Amino acid sequence: MQKKGTYKVMKKHLQDKIFEIISESADEQKQECYVIGGFVRDIFLKRPSKDIDVVVVGSGIELAEKVTQKLGRKAKLTIFKNFGTAQVKLRDLEVEFVGARKESYQRDSRNPIVENGTLEDDQNRRDFTINAMALCLNKDRFGELVDPFGGLDDLKNFVIRTPLSPDITFSDDPLRMMRGIRFAAQLGFFLESSTFEAIARNKERIEIISKERIADELNKIMLSRKPSVGFILLEKTGLLELIFPELLALKGAETKDGVGHKDNFYHTLAVLDGLCEQTDNLWLRWAGLLHDIGKPRTKRFDARLGWTFHNHNFVGEKMIPEIFRKMKLPTNEKMKYVQKIVTLHMRPIVLSEDEVTDSAIRRLLFDAGDDIDDLMKLCEADITSKNPEKVKRFRSNFQLVRQKLKEIEEKDRVRNFQPPISGQEIMESFNLPASSIVGEIKMKIKDAILDGIIPNEYQAAKEYMMLLAKELGVNTSKTK
Ligand code: ATP
Repeated sequence: MQKKGTYKVMKKHLQDKIFEIISESADEQKQECYVIGGFVRDIFLKRPSKDIDVVVVGSGIELAEKVTQKLGRKAKLTIFKNFGTAQVKLRDLEVEFVGARKESYQRDSRNPIVENGTLEDDQNRRDFTINAMALCLNKDRFGELVDPFGGLDDLKNFVIRTPLSPDITFSDDPLRMMRGIRFAAQLGFFLESSTFEAIARNKERIEIISKERIADELNKIMLSRKPSVGFILLEKTGLLELIFPELLALKGAETKDGVGHKDNFYHTLAVLDGLCEQTDNLWLRWAGLLHDIGKPRTKRFDARLGWTFHNHNFVGEKMIPEIFRKMKLPTNEKMKYVQKIVTLHMRPIVLSEDEVTDSAIRRLLFDAGDDIDDLMKLCEADITSKNPEKVKRFRSNFQLVRQKLKEIEEKDRVRNFQPPISGQEIMESFNLPASSIVGEIKMKIKDAILDGIIPNEYQAAKEYMMLLAKELGVNTSKTK
């Protein structure tokens, strides 16, 4: 089953001292022992991994205890009695020890009934062939690859396939459907056709999976190099409709009176992929995914204007808390950041179409603050037109916007702008109680600075405050 060449390669990847110690310990305990799963897969993918799963035909906890004894004080052992597993931390390595197990499932839970089993039983319960490969650690078979389902061939052919019947694999633990799609996105692999079809058939089973686990997988898809691969698979298998209907609602291009609009689902994915080339920031990527989420709710057809999506950015911003709550994504400052980018995502585009005035640039800087660079990245990724002339024009206008942003920020420092005169100072100056007029004066001072009527300086603001007070009929005779 196993080729000689492979054997050598495997030994090379088991050179860390820890494997020698596990090997000795397992031999002393006369137990079969293997390194298995993601670590083995990642050796072939040349993605060095620090998480090592060790399976032993016997007690994982006892083996971990023996290994820790041999390693001495530098190793830290944690035992999870309830799960029958143990973890040994050594340097930056985390080694999980578990006894080989056989699993059987009940219809309403993804938590199996577990019994002790053989290596074969253990490999049968793995999710994908590429994750089911094991390397023997016992001395006389050290480095031997045990690959009963052809995982190595699937790796070479970029294929995700379940080891046993895909219907049973997915129905037993439906999280595996999300994992399969996530691996396809992360590794740039294909779902083998019967695996794909079984996901489509078993999609409804996703309802027994917690929202948190689904969100974890979605975030891994979002962090992959080309998340569109994952979202297109989610859509094609029918999972998207169940886990993220608001995103699916973007799909489709309607035509009326011969006027069509673009398919906003595929447009969104193109924007997201483009943005991912510019940033690893998960939340900026989420902003990319959600930037047009308000479009289906705002879509109108107007005989004169054609298709419009007025205020879709504001509607999108308002939809985000509900989406985040439902999907168990964090409803904290990360969500607020996503909302902010979504609300503002039209501004640089509008700016680049019109004449770029200093005042508009100052307002954009003021509203975006430190997130201005992120916003610009999204807006540039948002240019997905197929018309090269249009793309060229937008790009050069954006260049101009970027340059102006830099110039104005250097000159006026409005990025983290705080109005130089506080409401408190306005009240004290004119002996006013807290009232709408105080708010009005404050806002007009801010506007005057952003519009370039006065410089962003205390003295100028104070003089302008006096002028405003007079205009608004405030009694200025007792001014301090
Ligand atoms: P990553 O670390 O990128 O998530 P991984 O494959 O190492 O990838 P883990 O979640 O650490 O993922 O799982 C380790 C191994 O356990 C997998 O390679 C697989 O063999 C097995 N496994 C994990 N989750 C499941 C599951 N839901 N069903 C079956 N096997 C699983």
